[in-house]
Amino acid sequence: MAYLIDRKEKMTLWERAYLPEIIRGMAITARHFIRNVIFMDRRITIEYPEQKKQLPAGYRAEHRLMKREDGTIRCTACMLCATICPSGCIEIEAEEVADPQVEKRAKSYIINELRCVFCGLCVEACPCDAIRMDTGRYENASFDRSTLIYAKDKLLDNSAPGSNSLSASL
Ligand code: SF4
Ligand code: SF4
Repeated sequence: MAYLIDRKEKMTLWERAYLPEIIRGMAITARHFIRNVIFMDRRITIEYPEQKKQLPAGYRAEHRLMKREDGTIRCTACMLCATICPSGCIEIEAEEVADPQVEKRAKSYIINELRCVFCGLCVEACPCDAIRMDTGRYENASFDRSTLIYAKDKLLDNSAPGSNSLSASL
């Protein structure tokens, strides 16, 4: 099916001559090029992946699970995160523990990062600050899809470089 484009503005003779507009476009490109060469420190683009941009506070990156001070998993397997997750990408299996303060914890905890839409609802829903998305890791591309399905051990070890996987509000 053919569509007709009804241009409201008519082109001037200068614009219809084509070549002047080409020259004007090249002049704009040259101006940006020269400015970027002279003022390299003011460039907007960065040399990715050698350079990384500073992520804004609250950026939702890959998940991590938090630990208690004794090193055990902080998650009590309440299932709130799995219930609220719009992608259904969290799977949790619970187990009972002898400690009456805890009662339950996650025996297995799996997040399929391929299905995750990084909405952050799991973090919001968690009543015990057991899951966070502050790792700063966002380059989750892989040739092998199975490497992006994170199990409990990977999530417990997924801290951002220099950060502590223990919750500050234990
Ligand atoms: S960020 Fe959103 S989509 Fe991803 S696991 Fe959490 S609730 Fe599910
Ligand atoms: S991570 Fe939080 S919300 Fe999810 S099951 Fe564990 S304690 Fe509940």
